[in-house]
Amino acid sequence: MSRETIVLGAGMVGVSVAYHLAQRGRPVLLIDRRSPGQETSFGNAGIIQREAIYPYPFPHDLKTLLRVLPNRGIDIRYRPMDMVAAAGPLFSYWRNSFPKRYEKIVPEYASLIALSTQEHAPMIAAAGAAHLVREEGWLELYRTAQALDGRAQKARIAVKDYGVLAERLDRRQLDRMQPDLSASVIGALHWQNSWTVASPGDLVLAYAKAFENQGGRWLRAELRSVAPAANGWRVTTAEGAHEAAEVVIALGPWSARFAKTLGYHLPLFVKRGYHMHYAQPETRRLRHWLMDAEKGYLLEPMTAGIRLTTGAELANLDAPPNYGQLDAAERVARELYPIGQRLEPLPWKGARPCTPDMKPIIGPAPKHPGLWFAFGHGHQGFTLGPATGRLLAEMMEGEPPAIDMTPFRVERFCA
Ligand SMILES: Cc1cc2nc3c(=O)[nH]c(=O)nc-3n(C[C@H](O)[C@H](O)[C@H](O)COP(=O)(O)OP(=O)(O)OC[C@H]3O[C@@H](n4cnc5c(N)ncnc54)[C@H](O)[C@@H]3O)c2cc1C
Repeated sequence: MSRETIVLGAGMVGVSVAYHLAQRGRPVLLIDRRSPGQETSFGNAGIIQREAIYPYPFPHDLKTLLRVLPNRGIDIRYRPMDMVAAAGPLFSYWRNSFPKRYEKIVPEYASLIALSTQEHAPMIAAAGAAHLVREEGWLELYRTAQALDGRAQKARIAVKDYGVLAERLDRRQLDRMQPDLSASVIGALHWQNSWTVASPGDLVLAYAKAFENQGGRWLRAELRSVAPAANGWRVTTAEGAHEAAEVVIALGPWSARFAKTLGYHLPLFVKRGYHMHYAQPETRRLRHWLMDAEKGYLLEPMTAGIRLTTGAELANLDAPPNYGQLDAAERVARELYPIGQRLEPLPWKGARPCTPDMKPIIGPAPKHPGLWFAFGHGHQGFTLGPATGRLLAEMMEGEPPAIDMTPFRVERFCA
C-alpha cells in the first residue's frame, strides 16, 4: 500500500519531489500559499546550469574583499547588522571555501549537477514545455584577458572531468552569436550543454500540471505547523489540517523556520537577489543569456522582456529591499547592451536558500521517521529541482539512489 505524502512548498524543488513520488504511484498532496513556482523559482535567471560544477565559494582573496567592503559593488552587497545575525553560518561558509575543503565539495556537488539536464528532459517532455526551453547554452562575457584565461583554465577541468561542454570565443566569434555588445568585451565562454528557460515560473507551473496529470493534488494554503501525529504527520494550514504517513519540507528559504519547530537548528542563510525587465531595443534583439562576469549580473531574453538579475545580497530574508545593487547593475548593463526602458514599477526580490558547505540538504530527518528534507539549493535550485525529486523519491521508496547521497544528508549540520 502506497504511503500518503504531503510535500510542503511548490517551488522547483517541491514540485519536482511531488512529481517523482506521484510517478511512483504515491498519493501526494502538494501545499503552497501561492500558485506553484511563484517565489524564488519564479524570479531567477532561468538557466539549467549543467556547467555549474563549482559552487560559489566565499571570497578569500584580498583584492575581492577590499572591493566588496565599501558595499557599492554589483556582484555582492551586504547589510552589516544582518551579517552579524548570520555570523555562525557565514563563518562556516568562509571556512568551507578554503581550498582543502572546497576541493572535496566540488566533485560531490558535480555529482548532482551531472543529473541536471538529464532529469529536466523527461519532465519537460511530460509537461509539454519544450517551447519554454532552449538547448543552446549561454555566454559568460569577459572584459580582461587575465580573467578570461583564468576562467578558461577552470572550464578545461570541467570539460575534461565533469562532462561539461564549453568553447572559448574571441570577439569576432562572439559578435557572430550576439552582435551589439560594448567594445569593452574581449571574448566569452560559451557553456554549450546548459539550457535556458524563457519563463522560469511557467516551467514550474507546467511541471505542477504534469504532477496533477499523474493523480497528484495541490492545495493553496498558508502553512501554520507540522507535527508528528498518531499515524504519521499532521500539517495544519490556514484552511484546515491534513494527515499523511510522510512529509517532505521543500520550503526553499523558509525551510529552516519549520525545521526548527521540530528541533532541527540548521545553519541556513540567504543570498538575496533582484530582477527587473526591460524592453528589447527597437531595431535589434538580445538573442542569448549573458553574464557580465567581471561585473556580476546577468541579462536574459525572457518572454516578459530582457530580465536583469543581480548577484548576491547578504541580508535577512525579511529585511526591506535595497534597490541600490540593481540600479548599479542597470547602469553598467546599459553600457554593455542597449536595453530599453524598465517594464515594471518595482524590482522583484527573492532569496537563494544557502547552506555553509554550498550543498543542498536532501534526505531523511534523523530524529523523525517519515520526515524528509529537500532544501538549501543556493544558486542552483532551478537547475537541481528534478534531480532532487528523483533522488529523494528513490530514498523514500527504498530504491538505491542514482548517486551517493551521504554528502547531502542533514546530519552534517546536526547530531
Ligand atoms: C536572482 C536569482 C537568480 C537565480 N538564478 C538561477 C539560475 O539561473 N539557475 C538556477 O538553477 N538557480 C537560480 N537561482 C536559485 C534558484 O532560484 C533557487 O535555488 C530555487 O528557486 C529554490 O527553489 P525552492 O523550490 O527550494 O524554493 P522556492 O521556489 O522559494 O519555493 C518555496 C515555496 O515555499 C512556499 N512557502 C514558504 N512558506 C510557506 C508557508 N508558510 N505556507 C505555504 N507555503 C510556503 C513559497 O510560497 C514557495 O513557493 C537564482 C536565484 C536568484 C534569487
